[in-house]
Amino acid sequence: MTKLIVATSNQGKLREMKTYLQGLNWELALKPPELEVEETGGTFMENAILKAVSVAKVMKEWAIADDSGLMVEALNGAPGIYSARYGNCHSDAERNLKLLAELGDNPNRQAQFVCAVAIARPDGTISLKAEGICQGEILTKVSGSGGFGYDPIFYVPEMEKTFAEMDSEMKNKISHRGQAFKALLPQLQKLSVSI
Ligand code: IMP
Repeated sequence: MTKLIVATSNQGKLREMKTYLQGLNWELALKPPELEVEETGGTFMENAILKAVSVAKVMKEWAIADDSGLMVEALNGAPGIYSARYGNCHSDAERNLKLLAELGDNPNRQAQFVCAVAIARPDGTISLKAEGICQGEILTKVSGSGGFGYDPIFYVPEMEKTFAEMDSEMKNKISHRGQAFKALLPQLQKLSVSI
């Protein structure tokens, strides 16, 4: 089996990525925690590529990275690529409260989660990439205790639940990360038998 380095230090994302990648013909390994890549790209895909390429080059192994975030329409797409460090907050709970305060009683609650995934070869060239989107609405207060990040304020009308109220199976099926991996997995499986 070929080794695939998962280039993330976010435990919530890691847990979900491992679920998607299990059962594939790849031996998953984690990137060393000291190997931090600065996210200097201007888009989710640029950042995913940056992380996958940097980790692949340093480790000289295949690497997979995702970059994701929440885009709120009434906030002109914020927090977007800055979702992880929104408002200088120190915790997910603080970031959720900050976002709710920013949005106030604005009637436009439209939002989307976006996820870009990139896979780099050991020489640092990009082999595969995919993007997934999940549409939803921002509630006026947190609801649910599952998941991570902005899950407790992100409500999906079709499911009548926030991401934090869904079990992981349901979230993984409909989420932005789920959509991106759904597009990527058949190609990733094919790739593992051709190298
Ligand atoms: P990055 O992709 O590591 O730069 O950070 C993405 C950030 O977006 C996370 O730290 C979360 O705040 C947020 N995020 C991404 N995906 C999710 C999700 O599935 N649920 C909740 N928050 C998410």
